Amino acid sequence: MRGYERALARIVGKDNVSTDKAELFCYSFDASIHTSAPNVVVRPSNTKEVSEIVRYANRKQIPIVPRGAGTALCGHSLAWNGGIVLDMTRMNHISETHVEDLYVVVGPGIVYSTLNAALKPLGFFFPPEPGSADVCTIGGMVAVNASGTKAIKYGATRDYVLGLEVVLSNGTILKTGSRTIKNSSGYQLCRLFTGSEGTLGVITEVTLKVAPLPTYSSTAIVAYDDLQAAGRTVADLIRCRLLPAALEIMDRTCIQAVNKSLKLGLPEVEGILIVEFDGHPDAVRDDMRKAEGICRAENPTLFSSSDDPAEEERIWAGRKAVLPSMSRLKGGAVSVSVAEDMIVPISNIPKLIGAISRIAKKRGLVIGTYGHCGDGNLHTKVLFDVRKKDAWTRAWKACLEIYGKCISLGGSLAGEHGIGYTRAPFMRMEHKAELDLMRTIKMALDPNNIMNPGKLSLDSVPKTFVTRLRYPVGD
Ligand SMILES: Cc1cc2nc3c(=O)[nH]c(=O)nc-3n(C[C@H](O)[C@H](O)[C@H](O)COP(=O)(O)OP(=O)(O)OC[C@H]3O[C@@H](n4cnc5c(N)ncnc54)[C@H](O)[C@@H]3O)c2cc1C
Repeated sequence: MRGYERALARIVGKDNVSTDKAELFCYSFDASIHTSAPNVVVRPSNTKEVSEIVRYANRKQIPIVPRGAGTALCGHSLAWNGGIVLDMTRMNHISETHVEDLYVVVGPGIVYSTLNAALKPLGFFFPPEPGSADVCTIGGMVAVNASGTKAIKYGATRDYVLGLEVVLSNGTILKTGSRTIKNSSGYQLCRLFTGSEGTLGVITEVTLKVAPLPTYSSTAIVAYDDLQAAGRTVADLIRCRLLPAALEIMDRTCIQAVNKSLKLGLPEVEGILIVEFDGHPDAVRDDMRKAEGICRAENPTLFSSSDDPAEEERIWAGRKAVLPSMSRLKGGAVSVSVAEDMIVPISNIPKLIGAISRIAKKRGLVIGTYGHCGDGNLHTKVLFDVRKKDAWTRAWKACLEIYGKCISLGGSLAGEHGIGYTRAPFMRMEHKAELDLMRTIKMALDPNNIMNPGKLSLDSVPKTFVTRLRYPVGD
């Protein structure tokens, strides 16, 4: 046993420290295109242990990477410089439930859908619902400010974080925020830690706002022969003061991918919208009637709505399967996440969609576009043969162009998936003096740069990317 293993085992017990090669290999992946293994994995069970581990790492200047389920899409939870991966999944408790005060207190390792299963009998829920809901943790969601299909109506994770317990890089245990629905007491530090991607401290407890669970919903599928018409409909729905619970888009490439993998028989048109309303049945029916009129103004080839939960689930099945289905579309082509989480003001969705298809054509790439268009958030997957270096170069150039367009439309590099490692070199495109201030905050809170170094472009910016898909890119 090495010295650091002994020291860590004294804190958490030897069963919760691992340097086993097979295990380190498993922790060398997340859902990104990258790979990098830690030297050791540690699994704390309480805040005191986390504090002692971080204090030790700070003294020895060992990098430390907090990790939930490892589903982040940009290499967030990989240990670029080796060091400790802090697996937070043992801290998965619900310690308090106060639905009458609209909050719960949970450990960071609890899985999103486990929390909502516990809240359901009480008639409440935590709404952001990412596509990874069945596996991702609340700590990971807070650290990335994740959201999902419901953000248009219910907001993102940050809108639900009332209070946090955070272990700072010197081991100090900080409590910030409150148990109240609002507060205006000083700097809003919960907001600073939300979205900080493990670079400022380890989240050890979360006080989360919860919302009443809607009891009725209705969902429509709308098919268009023109993707721009689908994009225009999105802004028209909002302009007419409709606020769907979800408003999603899928382009032809995505439709073909889910048809191929799930045999759903969706119409293979240029674009499909999914529109869901929830709330009181009368209000939902009224909203759906209005939405139908607005959708029909752009001449869809199909408008079909249902309030039958089984049919609603069928409508959603295709959308939910887009990400895992894409790699099955073309033999030899892999679906690669490069520029994959752009967000623009809602009315600029048609312009961004148009730009993405022009860029794909110009670079000779197949790009599938889908996402939460109701809040302006589009995802893309680039399909190419990852054995070909030239394809990587074209994908990289397309990525730069898509980000450039997105920023020129008043948008941002990331709507919900965060920055991590993949997007770090692009931060300067979006943030000017703001990035310098972020770095100042990082240095103030983590002077030894032990907390998840190499992420968010807060220290050195990588010149090339290590990918597990054969080629490094970006040089
Ligand atoms: C199929 C699929 C669908 C997805 N759909 C969505 C979606 O719809 N919306 C969306 O927003 N994202 C989505 N994601 C991305 C991802 O699931 C989310 O970002 C999720 O919040 C990550 O949670 P995690 O527990 O896996 O965190 P991890 O991947 O383990 O970690 C993510 C980041 O959080 C940090 N972190 C984790 N726990 C802590 C802690 N306790 N303290 C401090 N930092 C911590 C890590 O260091 C890392 O920087 C999807 C991913 C997949 C694979």
